[in-house]
Amino acid sequence: MTFVTRFAPSPTGPLHLGHAYSAMLAHDMAQAQSGTFLLRIEDIDRTRARPAWEAQIYEDLHWLGLSWPTPVMRQSDRLPAYAAALDRIWDMGLLYPCTCSRHDIAAAMSAPQEGVPTHGPDGPIYPGTCRARPPDTRRSKHSILRLDIALAFRVLDHVPLVYSEAGRGPVITRPHDMIETVGDVVLARRDMGTSYHLSVVLDDAEQGISDVVRGADLATSTPVHVLLQRLLGLPTPAYHHHRLIRDEAGKRLAKRDDARALSRYRADGITPSELRGMLDMPHPDATI
Ligand code: GLU
Ligand code: ZN
Repeated sequence: MTFVTRFAPSPTGPLHLGHAYSAMLAHDMAQAQSGTFLLRIEDIDRTRARPAWEAQIYEDLHWLGLSWPTPVMRQSDRLPAYAAALDRIWDMGLLYPCTCSRHDIAAAMSAPQEGVPTHGPDGPIYPGTCRARPPDTRRSKHSILRLDIALAFRVLDHVPLVYSEAGRGPVITRPHDMIETVGDVVLARRDMGTSYHLSVVLDDAEQGISDVVRGADLATSTPVHVLLQRLLGLPTPAYHHHRLIRDEAGKRLAKRDDARALSRYRADGITPSELRGMLDMPHPDATI
């Protein structure tokens, strides 16, 4: 099978060292396998995405010496595909509107049981408040829609999810574990008609991604993605979750941290090859 991977940044801030690592790793892996490296702009959050950040992404990645086929997929062009998939899952009876505020969720969680996880990939595990509301609850295009995970596994005959994780071999996620550790995730965010999870799954399938290369912080989202692939009859790529690049304080670099933007290294005269050295990365022509 041909190796197809992608780098999928959100244009909501500058790329930093961790992004450079992720993009170069995906690019190098594709090159080593005579495969394809794709770029995808994850701009569903219209309140935070900015054209200037998107332009900066192209500039930074070119500076790193990366190239990719064009046109580049942009999630903002894919809203009809997300709406269609959401309708399919709605018609399967697996979604319900949620009207809880952050405060409602926190209040409902105020007496957590001992030994039961309280946080999942998207933050606090949803306590299920709106799941119990009458099934005829109105859905509008503004609604937050949650996936009823337990019902989804029932539809899938309670078969555990199996996927391949580089370095770990097959990973098996049992329905019970996922109900406890993930909960009813949001598939449509308010006024958005989609979510990170739904979009990423549909786009990876649309782009024929064979191997997803991304940071270890997204590893806990992967069972959600595999579950959606099963429900929608989509193929499951192999997952490579790479180490997170930490700054001197040992904190994970994120856009909201004071991490130095890639463009700052560049302005300081650091070369892409020095950057690879800082990241302990071999050169692309060396064998991985
Ligand atoms: N857009 C996501 C981010 O910037 C990455 C999504 C993914 O690689 O699955 O964190
Ligand atoms: Zn709710």
